[in-house]
Amino acid sequence: MPAFNEADGIVEFNRRLRDVRGRLSETSEVVYVNDGSRDDTMAVLRALRERDPTITIVNLSRNFGKEIALTAGLDYSCGDAAIVIDSDLQDPPELIPTLIARWREDGADVVFAQRRSRAGEGWVKKITAYGFYRVLNSVSGQQVPVDTGDFRLVSRRAVEAVKQLREHHRFMKGLFAWIGFRQVAVPYERAPRLAAKPNGIIGSF
Ligand code: UDP
Ligand code: MG
Repeated sequence: MPAFNEADGIVEFNRRLRDVRGRLSETSEVVYVNDGSRDDTMAVLRALRERDPTITIVNLSRNFGKEIALTAGLDYSCGDAAIVIDSDLQDPPELIPTLIARWREDGADVVFAQRRSRAGEGWVKKITAYGFYRVLNSVSGQQVPVDTGDFRLVSRRAVEAVKQLREHHRFMKGLFAWIGFRQVAVPYERAPRLAAKPNGIIGSF
C-alpha cells in the first residue's frame, strides 16, 4: 500500500483490511510504504505496527510518487501473491477475497480490479482519464486495460518479472501489461476518496 498524507484515513483503512484478512484462510502480511508524507502518516503507521507485527513499514526518504512507492512495496513483498491497493479506501479491501479466488480458480497471474463507476470524481478527471487510456492504447504496443487503478493481485512470478524492470520513470499499469501472462478483470464500484486530497488537481488515472 502506497501512502502519501493518509494520516486521516489510514486507521480506518487498516481496520477494514484487518477484518478482511481475518476472514482469509491464507496467511498474509501488510507492507505500507510511506511516500514522504508531510502529515502524521508515519506516526500513525508506527502505532498500527505496535499492535500488529504482521505490518511492515517502508519509509521512503522523500516523496517519490506512487509508482516508485508501489515498486518499493513489491520489492519488500514475499508471499505467493502480492496485492496492490490504495490506502485511501477508494479501493475496497472487501474485494480482496474475490481477487484471491479468481487467482486460485483461473490460475491467472494478474487479477486486476476494473472500476464500473468513478463515483466522487469530477468531470475534469472523468474526461481526462477517458482520453488518457484511449490515447495511451492507440500509441503503445501493449494494451493497458481501461478504468483500472493499481488495485490488483499479482502472482509471485509476475512480481519477479516486474521487479526486473528498473526504469526510473515508471508507469506500473504499463509494466504490468508488458510482462504478459494471463490477466483477468474483476469489476467493482470505486468509492470516493475518504481523506486527504488527491495528488495534484486530478490525481492519477
Ligand atoms: N500516493 C503515494 N505517493 C504520491 C501520491 C499518492 O504514495 O505521491 C498514494 C496515495 O496515498 C494513495 C495512492 O497512492 O494510496 C493513490 O493516490 P491518489 O489517491 O492521490 O490517486 P488516485 O486515487 O487519483 O489514483
Ligand atoms: Mg485515491
